[in-house]
Amino acid sequence: MKSEFLTDNQRLTDIFNSQKQKAIQLRHSSFTERAERLKVLKEWIKENHEEIEKALYADLKKPSAETMVTETGYALVEINLAIKKLKKWMSPKKVKTPIHMLGTNSYIRTEPLGTALIISPWNYPFNLSIGPVVSAIAAGCTISLKPSELTPHTSALLRRMMTELFDADLVAVFEGGKETAQALLQLPFDHIFFTGSTSVGKTVMNAASRNLSSVTLELGGKSPVIIEKDYDLKDAAKKIAIGKFLNCGQTCISPDYLLIHESQKETFLKDLQSQINKMYNPKNKGFITNKDYGRIIEQKHLNRLQNLLADAQTKGGHIEFGGDIVKEENYMAPTIISNMSENMLLMQEEIFGPILPILTYHNIEEVSHLLQLKPKPLALYLFTKDEFVKDHFLKNTSSGTVVINDCSIQYMQNELPFGGVNHSGIGKSHGYAGFLAFSNQKSVVEQRKGKTLPQLLYPPYDLKTTGL
Ligand code: NAD
Repeated sequence: MKSEFLTDNQRLTDIFNSQKQKAIQLRHSSFTERAERLKVLKEWIKENHEEIEKALYADLKKPSAETMVTETGYALVEINLAIKKLKKWMSPKKVKTPIHMLGTNSYIRTEPLGTALIISPWNYPFNLSIGPVVSAIAAGCTISLKPSELTPHTSALLRRMMTELFDADLVAVFEGGKETAQALLQLPFDHIFFTGSTSVGKTVMNAASRNLSSVTLELGGKSPVIIEKDYDLKDAAKKIAIGKFLNCGQTCISPDYLLIHESQKETFLKDLQSQINKMYNPKNKGFITNKDYGRIIEQKHLNRLQNLLADAQTKGGHIEFGGDIVKEENYMAPTIISNMSENMLLMQEEIFGPILPILTYHNIEEVSHLLQLKPKPLALYLFTKDEFVKDHFLKNTSSGTVVINDCSIQYMQNELPFGGVNHSGIGKSHGYAGFLAFSNQKSVVEQRKGKTLPQLLYPPYDLKTTGL
């Protein structure tokens, strides 16, 4: 059965039922079979790179270099790691035998969770769909993928890709908006892997609770960037400029707001502006004409960003740089705003756009205290050479990831689990962590010959016969 354009609930259910059957067969799938599926994915991406670039350009005006690194490049990195390590990941893991279990053997057998639903967002629509698909294939699950309705070209391409490569009982793609996602969420999937906003994450978790489906929630939040007093400001400016304005700030791990020592604000602002110009306006013809600078996904989001900026301005915020908007083009210039206060919406909501608020501090204890009062972010970026300061932030703040002296590079390190904590997410993805997200780690104990403590407790409780 091939995957088709489906929104009708009965057809969703039919496909789900066929996947349920397939999931039973997949429990026996070997390393070779799963690796073979990963290889065909890899080949398809390589052969159709131009098509992928075109789709991403049509949806997001994404520059091809960005597509190569952040969309297809990372997807290939994930596939390669899975192919290389899958045999090891799948093999049973022996555990030690404690003294009270002498005579037994114990091990962890990793089995596929079964049917998986993957719901993905629009900001890296290819990579954030393929990444979890790779993990689910590696783990031996069936997949129902619901990509974002806001990137119709990429979603259609994903459907074509999966239809060409797999039968719908193994991988099915459902284009459509939140109604399609909600219809899928009615079904008793074994695992739901959701990437998107914190508010929709709550809806997904609520729906999952009806069937006790396990969840991985890759959410958003306000990731702070802190520059410690002695750090080289030019180096920080360069790394923050790319971290913030890549994909027009529409990146879950992009720095949301910045904290700098009050004595360094003015110098840093000059350095940052100069870096932004060097990267996105090198010929001085304006950011809007530069093809390396992207666009806001849609008018609704542009309006949201415009409102956030207007709200901050009415409450005393001062635009230091940028602020221009061209509605017909979905364009917003790289923007820096200062004189911030906590009552501004810009300091309460995830910005997810090219606006960087700058806040100042007097001492680092004040910064860690402020962060302790806020929801735990997806990432924390700290620029410092001081071991005491590193240790202070690692001990006193909580976040899904931490990067010291750079921005956003943690995403590419797929030997590390990636994800948030509480408001910024539940569960982890990438590499082995992604494989585990779609797996059940089944604990197996085999009795060989021993008298384990539980056996000594067989009734009747007569001390002479139990040997206690
Ligand atoms: P979103 O939550 O609006 O949408 C994500 C997906 O959920 C889409 O496929 C959409 O169709 C679906 N959806 C929307 N409303 C729904 C509802 N009521 N019920 C069920 N499904 C629904 O997110 P978005 O705007 O596509 O993406 C931006 C958000 O994603 C940001 O908050 C960003 O931080 C986050 N994000 C997180 C990561 C991560 O890895 N942690 C990565 C990228 C984006």
